[in-house]
This record gives sequence, C-alpha cells and structure tokens, in this order.
Amino acid sequence: MLALHGGAPVRTHRTWPRWPQFDNRTAAELLAALHSSRWSVTWYSPRGGKSRERLFAEAFARYNGAAHGVSVDHGSSALVIALEALGIGPGDEVIVPAMTWVAPATAVLRVGAIPVLADVDPDTGCLTADELRAVVSPRTRAVIVVHLACTAAELDDIVAVTGQEGLALIEDCSQAHGTRWAGRAVGTFGAIGVFSLGAAKSLAAGEAGAAITDSRDLYERMLMLRADSRGYTEDAPGSGEYELVEHGTVMGANYCMSELTAGLLLDQLPRLDDQHALREQRAKEIEAGLPDIPGLAPIPVPAPVDRRAVYEYGIRVRPGAFGPATVDQVAAALTAELGTRVYPPRDPLHRSVLLRPQTKPRFAQWWSEAAERATGRAFTGADHYRDHTLLMHHSVLLGERGDTEDILTALDKVRAHADQLAAHPEPKGLT
Ligand SMILES: *Cc1c(COP(=O)(O)O)cnc(C)c1O
Repeated sequence: MLALHGGAPVRTHRTWPRWPQFDNRTAAELLAALHSSRWSVTWYSPRGGKSRERLFAEAFARYNGAAHGVSVDHGSSALVIALEALGIGPGDEVIVPAMTWVAPATAVLRVGAIPVLADVDPDTGCLTADELRAVVSPRTRAVIVVHLACTAAELDDIVAVTGQEGLALIEDCSQAHGTRWAGRAVGTFGAIGVFSLGAAKSLAAGEAGAAITDSRDLYERMLMLRADSRGYTEDAPGSGEYELVEHGTVMGANYCMSELTAGLLLDQLPRLDDQHALREQRAKEIEAGLPDIPGLAPIPVPAPVDRRAVYEYGIRVRPGAFGPATVDQVAAALTAELGTRVYPPRDPLHRSVLLRPQTKPRFAQWWSEAAERATGRAFTGADHYRDHTLLMHHSVLLGERGDTEDILTALDKVRAHADQLAAHPEPKGLT
C-alpha cells in the first residue's frame, strides 16, 4: 500500500541532508564580520581595507569569468538594477519566460516597463528562440532568459536572435550558479548576469543577490543604482575612511548587501564546486535507473552544457506514465514515500496568483491595457511543463548513494500503484 494511504513508506530511518550547509569555518567568517564593526559597506572601515561585499563581488565575478561583480541584497534587486543600468523604463517591453519565479516579471514592472510573457519549451521550461521571436515588437528593448531548475536555455539560438533584433540580454542565473555552456559560465553571454543568493539557492546566504558584467560602464552604473548614487573609492579605504564616493551620475536606491551576509558568502563560495560535483554524481545515478521505469526521463540538458548546476532536480513524466493520476497526486504520494518534498513546478506566470499588478495602485492605472499584450495568449509549452514535471530540492542530491536508490524505488512503487492514486483524488495533509 502507498504511504499516502497508510502503507509503509519506502524510506523510514535515514534523514536527508540539511540545507544550508555550514560548519565552524562558517561561524568563524560570520564572527569575523561581526567583530570587524563594519557591518555595512556604507559604514566606515575602522581598520581599513575593502568591504566583504566588495571582496565577494570580486570573487564571484572571478568564479564566473566575468570582469566585474556587484553584490546586492536580493536577486530581485539585481534584476532591477540590471534593467535600470540598461536604461529600460516606461514605454519599453521586456520579454520574460512564462515559466519562472515571479521576480523577473515584477522587476520589469518596478522599472515602469511591461513584462511580455513568452512561452517555453515543454520539456525544459526554458525560453526558446522561436518563442522569443513570436513576441518581439517594435517596443521590445530587452530579454530576460532564465536557466531553469537543472538545465539551461538554448543560449546560442537566443543570443543570435537578440543580436539580430538589437535587444539587450539579461541572464537570470538564480537557478544555475556555475552552469557552463561550451566552457563559459552562464551569466556572461548577455549584457548582465543576475543571481539570487537566497536561502534555497545552490549558493545561499539567506537574503542576497549579485550581478556580473564585462562592461565597465554597466558595472559603474549598477554600483550607483544599488548604493544611493554612490560608487567605490578607486583603492581600498584606509583606516577610518569611507569606501563609497558620492558620484551621483545616476540616481540609485539602497539595495546593498550586509557585511554579515557577505561573510557567509565568502565561506560558501569555495564549497560550491564540490557540491556541484556531488550533486552531479547523484543525478547520474538517478539517470542510470530512470530508463527502467517506463514513461519517466530526466529533464533534457542542451549538448553544449559541460557543467550543469542543479537547483531543483527535475524528472519529466510522459502523459499516462502514472495512469490517470495527476502530477500533483504523484508528487504527494512520492513525498509520503520519501519524507522529503517532491512537487510539481509552480503555476506559470500567465495564471500565477503571484503576478497581480492590478493590486498595486502604481501599476493598476496602465496594466489593464498592457495585460492583453503581456499575457493574453495561450502558453501550451508552459502548461505542459507544469503538468508533466516532478521536482526535488538540490539538497536531496548531497547525500549518499542509498538516497538515489530510495528515490528510484519510490518512483517505481508509486507507478505500480497509480490506479489507486487516481481513485483517491484528494491527497490530504501534504503539499
Ligand atoms: C529565486 C529567484 C529570483 C529572486 O531572488 P530573490 O533573491 O528572492 O529576490 C529571481 N529569479 C529566479 C529565476 C529565481 O529563482
């Protein structure tokens, strides 16, 4: 019997890896930031030297092979300053994939522009060149591409279209820190790469974000846009000096990263590649077992990807693989078997409760007209992806070989009991 219906679960004794991961070295970094009395890049430096948020931005740019990095308080803020640095505002349209977290769309609204949703590949959930071309208009200024879950968008094709059409490309790599495309880190293929470093992400610091670019001009604009119009001093400040200079070339707001947060990230970044390698090993084990379970397959990864980062590990479910059961019912059953969350993707943005500009006075006045152009189409690719994908958080791939065996056993068991699952249409108490 399925665990969902009171049977014995596949997994009973072992626990799943904890996330985020930290140890005494993390505590030492955090305490060092505390004892520095610095706490913020906007505060003076008692002992002199660069702020931790500047050191992290430099290290993160190096990690990605980009010329410049900017630390911010959230991935959402990174999106906002990227759009502002590119001069995007009222009257402009920015293309955003329908299948993503809501921030890429809300960031476009926050700069006064219109997010125009594009449909996505039904198997990867990522924007494609064809879907992009289908929604380009004379008012399109930029494209935000999202490398989703555990794969990457078809970058070569997308870069070709944005090049032909003269559109700025922003890569949202919040789910793909360190993914490499033909030897080069994602985030470096367009004008700016943006990253969330939130608690769930594979490089995590609770609430944080970053942007990378090869353009000195965009870098200097982003610095001011996130620090109330201030940039850095050329050299590291001496003791008792401030590190920020009031340039005021472009008006900013305050999206600065705390020094305590930057201390955490200086500890976490050097761990990322080992974590990637371990997750890849576990993913390969799942992928070795999946062909034995009819109707299931891994999310496809484009051939040029020579390293994939996993944020959420995804399994594609062919129609009918679990009989008449929905992906929501299957996910609830797997969650009960495994004792860790298995879930379908969130609803795509064209029908997401999270994207409701009409509820904010500053958007409501123009959104009713714009909404038709932005969302008034069918999104069959996004709908298919939503209804035929199972996801798990990347931390489930940070444990032992036995973990992936449990996952495969649970998939097999739930598939064998799919008819029972559909007969109980309301899985209770599990989301
Ligand atoms: C998490 C995420 C964000 C938002 O980042 P915050 O740090 O929460 O603001 C943006 N885009 C994508 C694709 C994300 O997954």
